[in-house]
Amino acid sequence: MKRPAFILFILLLPLGAVFARQDDSEEPRVLSTPQEVAADLATVPCDSNQRRAAVQALFGRMQAGAAGAPEISIQKVEGAENVIVTRPGATAEKIVVGAHYDFVNKGCGAIDNWTGIVALAHLYRSVSRFPTEKTMIFVGFGNEEVGLLGSRGMVAAISQSELPQYCAMINLDSFGLGMPATLGNLSSEAMVGLAQEMAEVLQLPLEKMTVPVANSDSTSFMNRSIPAVTLSGINSDWMSILHSDQDQAATINPASVYLGYRLALSMLFRLDEAPCQTYR
Ligand SMILES: [Zn+2]
Repeated sequence: MKRPAFILFILLLPLGAVFARQDDSEEPRVLSTPQEVAADLATVPCDSNQRRAAVQALFGRMQAGAAGAPEISIQKVEGAENVIVTRPGATAEKIVVGAHYDFVNKGCGAIDNWTGIVALAHLYRSVSRFPTEKTMIFVGFGNEEVGLLGSRGMVAAISQSELPQYCAMINLDSFGLGMPATLGNLSSEAMVGLAQEMAEVLQLPLEKMTVPVANSDSTSFMNRSIPAVTLSGINSDWMSILHSDQDQAATINPASVYLGYRLALSMLFRLDEAPCQTYR
């Protein structure tokens, strides 16, 4: 399936052009606006028990589950429930995009990781608006904070024979404090390279950070030899904000989340074009 050339043009538009854009047309747009992302960030539910349903509702607002659109399903694995929307491509080759929706029992889990969930949902909506070669699997992982249970369960359920179809995984964890960065100790070398390549196209600075004390769902995929990267948008204050009472909606800088969404979308576009083995 050949993608219309205008899609490439839109995805690679310099960021400033999008921030400046006023859009009053009724046409379905590929790109979400910074305002749309900010509005969804403000809806963060601070009650852990409402979190999974809120992820489903957010995907629903992006038209998942509507007539003719992919369904929103719940994958029950050991110790966690994952919210999954699979957008079929022309082939069975797969790209996974994920973000955990659970949070520690402090603050609101706004930065960590409602920001990742909002970016995930907008990525789903953007991708659903153009044809892809590869099948894209969007996952809200449960129980990341207690040992990556959702992502571990998901990769454990992939059979050895299916494994080569999993081309790559992008994990979104904790935006809203700073410019997008890759977390080097939680990422495959080649996927960090892809992020850097696309950041240059978008004219976005991209740091490769090392956060030795942290872990995230990309690790579960790397443990099964699926190339993976964790994208984040933290700054030097993160230690005093994440997993604390400070992690509130008011702390989020929406531009940080928006830039993360744009970077990940460009990476998805490039991954979709590339042969499946490219980043192994
Ligand atoms: Zn997290």
